[in-house]
Amino acid sequence: MKNIVLFGPPGAGKGTQAEILKEKQNLVHISTGDVFRRNIKGGTELGNLAKSYIEKGHLVPDEVTINMLKDEVKKNPEANGFIFDGFPRTEVQADALAEFMEEIDSQIDAMVALEVENEVLVERLLERGKFSGRKDDANEEIIRERIEEYYRKTDTLKDYYKKRDKYFGINGVGSIEEISDRLNTLVASL
Ligand code: AMP
Repeated sequence: MKNIVLFGPPGAGKGTQAEILKEKQNLVHISTGDVFRRNIKGGTELGNLAKSYIEKGHLVPDEVTINMLKDEVKKNPEANGFIFDGFPRTEVQADALAEFMEEIDSQIDAMVALEVENEVLVERLLERGKFSGRKDDANEEIIRERIEEYYRKTDTLKDYYKKRDKYFGINGVGSIEEISDRLNTLVASL
C-alpha cells in the first residue's frame, strides 16, 4: 500500500489535487471535511456535532474525527492505498493514524505539503465561496479563522513528519496541471 498525507492550509488545493492524484496513482481519496459535510447534509448525529465547530472555522474534536477516519479506511479493504486530505490536523490525530496504520499492517509513506502564501489562500477561498455553497468559504472572517486555526494546531505537523523523514514540500502556486505534475512525479518516486 502507498499512503500519502496531502497537507497544506485551507485553500492550498488539497481537494482538487487529490482528485487528480487518486486517478493517476489508483488510490482512495479520503477528505475528512467532505465526510463531515456529507453527514451535515444527511442530518446525522455526527453531522450535528461537527456543524457548530465547522461553521466557526474551528477543528472538530480529535476523538470524533479519528473514529470517523478509521471507519472510512475500513470501508475500503481492497484499496491500493489512501490519500488523506485534511487529516491529520493535530499531533493526537497523527499519532492515532500511525498506530492505526500499524494495526492494519501498513504505514504512512509521506506527507506532501502544498505551499501557498496566506493572501493567495484567502483570495482562492473567497473565489471558491462564490460557488462551493460552503458557509465557511462565504465569510472572510471565518476564512481567516480557519487559516489561524491551521497555524495554531496543524502546521506543526510538518515537524512531526520531518522528524520521521517523511516530509516533502511542493510549490502549490501555478496552474492545476503544473501542480499535479509536480505532485505526481514526487508520489510516483516514493
Ligand atoms: P476542509 O474541507 O478540510 O477544509 O475541512 C472543513 C472543516 O471540517 C474544518 O475547518 C474543520 O472544522 C473540519 N475538519 C476537517 N478535517 C478535520 C480534522 N482532521 N480534524 C478536525 N476538524 C476537521
